Amino acid sequence: MKIVTTVFQLKQEISQHQAGDKTIGFVPTMGFLHEGHLKLLAQARAENEIVVLSIFVNPLQFGPNEDFDSYPRNLEKDKELARLAKVDLIFAPSAEEMYQGEPSYTVRVHDRINVLCGKTRVGHFDGVATVLTKLFHLVQPTSAYFGMKDAQQVAVVHGLVEQFHFPLKIVPVDTIREEDGLAKSSRNVYLTSSERSQAPAIYKGLLIGKELVLQGERTKQKIVDEVSSYIMQHTSGKIDYVEVLSYPELINHEVISGKLIIAVALKFTKVRLIDNITIDI
Ligand code: AMP
Repeated sequence: MKIVTTVFQLKQEISQHQAGDKTIGFVPTMGFLHEGHLKLLAQARAENEIVVLSIFVNPLQFGPNEDFDSYPRNLEKDKELARLAKVDLIFAPSAEEMYQGEPSYTVRVHDRINVLCGKTRVGHFDGVATVLTKLFHLVQPTSAYFGMKDAQQVAVVHGLVEQFHFPLKIVPVDTIREEDGLAKSSRNVYLTSSERSQAPAIYKGLLIGKELVLQGERTKQKIVDEVSSYIMQHTSGKIDYVEVLSYPELINHEVISGKLIIAVALKFTKVRLIDNITIDI
């Protein structure tokens, strides 16, 4: 496994793999790897000759009052886990290396962002789209792997790849959960022990919503109300949103049909958690 930190080194490595006409599976992350990331890496490993992992806490996708400084980092442990996952190449640049100071060219996302996290995390998806545009150009992957835990990100990345004609395939991967249902997340380490025991209520609330839909409920508000009230009763967190939208278009219909997403964001004292379920009806 090679570890590179500069664009120059990365380009050299990638051109060698391309000379051998190798398929490249790419997994972009912010590090502090857990089993969710490992699932993405395992799928990339199974489907490609070369696996590239990027580890970069991207300042551009954090708002001024968000947790950029306190975002958990552990590059040494990440390297160990990546080695076990049989990653070929890690790209772990500094922000200075990625942006050469203040980013002077950025990508602006206009679609699929007026809902869910895009509503409150202003500029977040511009930051995601900017860094992915750079990374896709540099890594030139055959396929890139993204977790459905961040379903809005998957929807936006699909749009980005289509609009900018990136010659790569986006592979969505199902959310990996703890045994009690809590979606694995690097941020879970910042839950207090009482919040940690309440947090599985997010997924339970989503399952209640899914069950309502499967039983024939088609009124969006009814589903939102049931999911919200379950989560409010079972946690001390503050609901940021509970939304039911079409997926991947992320359109808000009063009466639902087709493929949809039920998504939740819940704020605890130090950490805001997100989770979702998609259903095809
Ligand atoms: P992050 O490091 O949080 O930016 O995540 C990097 C990638 O891992 C993203 O595509 C995430 O959606 C994905 N991911 C994060 N948590 C999970 C999870 N619990 N299950 C599956 N994928 C995940």
